[in-house]
Amino acid sequence: MISENLRNIQASIPSHVTLVAVSKTKPVVALMEVYNAGQRVFGENKVQEMCEKYDVMPKDIQWHLIGHLQTNKVKYLAPFVALIHSVDSFKLLQEINKQALKNNRVIDCLLQFHIAQEETKFGLSENEASELVLSNEFKLMKNVRIVGVMGMASFTEDNESVRNEFQSLKKIFTNLKNKFFSKEDCFKEISMGMSGDYLLAIEEGSTMVRVGSSIFGAR
Ligand SMILES: *Cc1c(COP(=O)(O)O)cnc(C)c1O
Repeated sequence: MISENLRNIQASIPSHVTLVAVSKTKPVVALMEVYNAGQRVFGENKVQEMCEKYDVMPKDIQWHLIGHLQTNKVKYLAPFVALIHSVDSFKLLQEINKQALKNNRVIDCLLQFHIAQEETKFGLSENEASELVLSNEFKLMKNVRIVGVMGMASFTEDNESVRNEFQSLKKIFTNLKNKFFSKEDCFKEISMGMSGDYLLAIEEGSTMVRVGSSIFGAR
C-alpha cells in the first residue's frame, strides 16, 4: 500500500527533514493516494511530466524539479515550481532568473554538486559554485534565491563510499555557508538521500530527502 509506505517513511524521518515524494513515471492516481495521505511535496525529473501533473492536481502541492533542466524548458515550469534542485550552470540560473522575473516571482534553487565517483552525474564543482556566487551578474539576479545544495551519491552497495560522498556535500554546504551565505537564513538546505540511502544521508546532515520507489514501488 502506497499510503502505508508513506507513513512508514515519515515515521523514520526527523521532523526537520523535508520528504520529497519522487513521483516520476507514476500515474496521477498514485500521486493522489499520497496526496490524500497528507503529502504536499512532490518531485519530478521531467518538465513536461511535471507540468501535466500540475495542471490536473490540487494547487496546494509544492512541485520540486529534481532532474537535469534544459534552459529552453525553464519557461514552462517558472509559473509554479517551488524549488529547482538541479542548478548546474550559470547559464541555467540566468534563464531561471529571467523567467521568474516574467512571472513576477522569486524562484528558490539549489546548486547541484558532482559528488559521485560516476562520470555521468551532472553538477558543479566547489570552485565553479564560488565563481558563480562571486560574479557581478549573480549579484544582480533578483528573482532567484539560492537556498542550499543538492547531490546524488554513487549507485553502489558500498555504504562507506556513499557516506563519504554525503560528507563531501555537507562540507561544500558548510564552506559556502561560511563564505557567502552566513547572513542568509534561507541558505539551509542539503538535498541528499534517495530510497536506498536516505537514512544514511540524514545521519550525515541531509535536510531534504528525495524518495521515490520506497513510496510508489519500483519504476
Ligand atoms: C529518481 C530520483 C530519486 C528517487 O529515487 P528512488 O531510488 O526511487 O528513491 C531521487 N533523486 C533524483 C535526482 C532522482 O532522479
